[in-house]
Amino acid sequence: MRSEKFDAIVVGAGPAGTTAAYVMAKAGLSVALLERGDYPGAKNMYGGAMYRWPLESIIPDFLAKAPIERRIVDHRLMILSKSSGLTMNFKDLAFAKPPYNAFTVLRAKFDRWYAGIAEEAGALLVTSTNVTDLIRDKGKVIGIRAGSGSENELYGDVVIVADGANSKLAVKAGLRRPLNPKEVALGIKETLELDPVVIESRFNLGRYEGAAIQIIGVTHGMMGGGFVYTNQNSLSIGIVVLLEHLIRMKMRPYDLLDEFKSHPIMAPMIEGGEPKEYSAHLVPEAGYYGIPKLCMDGLLLVGDAAFLTSSVYQEGVNMAMASGIYAGRTVIEAKERGDYSLKTLSNYEKLLRSSYVVRELYHLRNLPEMFANNPRLFSIYPDMINYAIRELLTMNGELGRYKRKKIVRKVKERIGLWRLLLDLVGIRRLLL
Ligand SMILES: Cc1cc2nc3c(=O)[nH]c(=O)nc-3n(C[C@H](O)[C@H](O)[C@H](O)COP(=O)(O)OP(=O)(O)OC[C@H]3O[C@@H](n4cnc5c(N)ncnc54)[C@H](O)[C@@H]3O)c2cc1C
Repeated sequence: MRSEKFDAIVVGAGPAGTTAAYVMAKAGLSVALLERGDYPGAKNMYGGAMYRWPLESIIPDFLAKAPIERRIVDHRLMILSKSSGLTMNFKDLAFAKPPYNAFTVLRAKFDRWYAGIAEEAGALLVTSTNVTDLIRDKGKVIGIRAGSGSENELYGDVVIVADGANSKLAVKAGLRRPLNPKEVALGIKETLELDPVVIESRFNLGRYEGAAIQIIGVTHGMMGGGFVYTNQNSLSIGIVVLLEHLIRMKMRPYDLLDEFKSHPIMAPMIEGGEPKEYSAHLVPEAGYYGIPKLCMDGLLLVGDAAFLTSSVYQEGVNMAMASGIYAGRTVIEAKERGDYSLKTLSNYEKLLRSSYVVRELYHLRNLPEMFANNPRLFSIYPDMINYAIRELLTMNGELGRYKRKKIVRKVKERIGLWRLLLDLVGIRRLLL
């Protein structure tokens, strides 16, 4: 580790940290980007989709350079019961044409490429470096420590903490409390290698087209769901469940994933896939009310470390990048003013709070609590929807109106009409 002082030190070369490093380096600031993995992306995982916004606002031609797997043209939602499933899909060929909308990318390739772009802009990338502490002077953060001894210290006018959901540095800074299992979900994922021709025919896709599939009804009533994303020659399949529920139900996440993979609707979808990678990671689920204070003298918090994720629309990478952009711009302004105190750095929090990121999380602010406290949304409702459709589609000489009465009777029995009404009002209020 070098002893010179940088304008900014960024901890974590995920989407948030690399974006901040790129923005600042491009503006001529001296930036050190520190990553604990052997290379950026080595330890990173997610489901599979990222959006064009906001990356194209800083790298307009990123599509021509980035290691994109497939352009997502087909978004599907599957509601499963034990042996059946309702699938709704939205396929839009507008998404298959420039400027496109969303893409599947594999983080090990993408994060490495992206950090390379930050390096080309002038950032110094240091890998295999686990930052363990912050260095302070009279309360102001002035650097980081990556082990013990002064040879492992690095100094900067500002430290941007981008070390992800389990941010130990945010806790050390006093901005966040240690992780609470109510506020995070555990995601586990397998990457299954599969011939591109098989992927395209199985998912009804063109050459570079991709599908993003969200699945509910596979978590035994725990808050969460499954996902499948199509990559160029592999599928990403996984499941995300609120950690508190996993602990309470005493379920092992890999058993849950195995069960999901062998569901009669899922198994044919992944048939022939050769397991290539298995990984697990935390996802912030606290939403708006979980967002901590985002800055202090000499320090800014970005991305998952700041709990800026919305799992409803699979937004995490784009929110992380947006926060990196705002943080980078704030540090550029601080350098111009020669003032890295909270007074200038708090502009970051103002920018972010008036941006799409925090406003969207505010809009969905009651969702985490509603989802966490209503197990029927993830078990009884998927069952009932499947039951109702099965009844209506089974032609056995029974009059339609008797079938409908039977369905209403079942709804009364398993949910209750009053409860159903309250749930519908609650969901409407959340989403509109
Ligand atoms: C199962 C799952 C599915 C998801 N699906 C999607 C999806 O489809 N679309 C989407 O947009 N988002 C998705 N997300 C969320 C998304 O992955 C995150 O929101 C996003 O990665 C946040 O970026 P980040 O840079 O803040 O953190 P991270 O991507 O976690 O990056 C943090 C970086 O910091 C490094 N680091 C950590 N500690 C240290 C340290 N002490 N010293 C040095 N380096 C350190 C890590 O190695 C890592 O490179 C998913 C997440 C999970 C777990």
